[in-house]
Amino acid sequence: MLKGKVALITGATRGIGKAIALKFAENGADIALNYRSDNEALRTLVSELEDKGVKVLPVQGDVSVLEDANKIVKEAVDGLGKLDIVVNNAGITKDGLIVRMKEEDFDAVIDTNLKGTFNMMKATSSIMMKQRSGKIINISSVVGLVGNAGQSNYSASKAGIIGLTKSIARELGGRGINVNAIAPGFIQTDMTDVLSDKIKESMESTIPLKRLGNPEDVANLALFLGSNLSDYITGQVIAVDGGMTMN
Ligand code: NDP
Repeated sequence: MLKGKVALITGATRGIGKAIALKFAENGADIALNYRSDNEALRTLVSELEDKGVKVLPVQGDVSVLEDANKIVKEAVDGLGKLDIVVNNAGITKDGLIVRMKEEDFDAVIDTNLKGTFNMMKATSSIMMKQRSGKIINISSVVGLVGNAGQSNYSASKAGIIGLTKSIARELGGRGINVNAIAPGFIQTDMTDVLSDKIKESMESTIPLKRLGNPEDVANLALFLGSNLSDYITGQVIAVDGGMTMN
């Protein structure tokens, strides 16, 4: 489905980003793999991806810093020749109720999740505009749609990503560029492993499909949005949440 395409995925060494990198490589895309710091997980993933017969280029950088975003995109294009798909996946949480939330925790989450997505789209747009094609996939969250007590910073960042997605979809649509967002529900990764079994069980009972999601559930939608099958879809926010937020 992605043969001949080049995809750049941020925060790709674990969790949802890793699942998307593997899914894209299985479908023939060359992969630029953004990471923050070199580690064993990165090296293992690089060889796992190379085993699928595609080119793999690790690109270091912190998406919350615009110069890093520019460098990540430049290295990807210089190394792999072009850029067809960008998945803005890097994200963090720093939870707390508003009365206790520190200003620096609010700023850190907005800087990585929202500004990081802006930085990457800014760095990518001119390249895709020149190509007159491209797919941008932003990873939002269901809490950006419905909110969550204890996650005001995170929910604001993810709601902001939805606004960015819709605005930039309008700006770039005329150049053949699709910009969409995925809103995952409760997906089992390091980010959610910190929650107690009790919380996980109570979440599970509220999900119509009666299970937590796994990273591959999100990767399957990313594959569709990254492929030509989504050519007439832009500015959309699609939930992968087992039906949790249907209305
Ligand atoms: P993980 O915590 O497992 O992975 C997050 C990844 O982002 C890591 O690779 C991390 O790198 C990277 N990262 C964090 N900050 C930066 C940065 N400034 N620059 C570059 N990379 C960075 O999270 P998930 O896989 O669970 O989440 C992936 C995305 O999906 C996030 O945007 C998250 O908000 C979103 N999401 C997740 C849900 C879930 O239930 N898990 C639900 C809804 C949305 P490092 O290894 O260096 O820390």
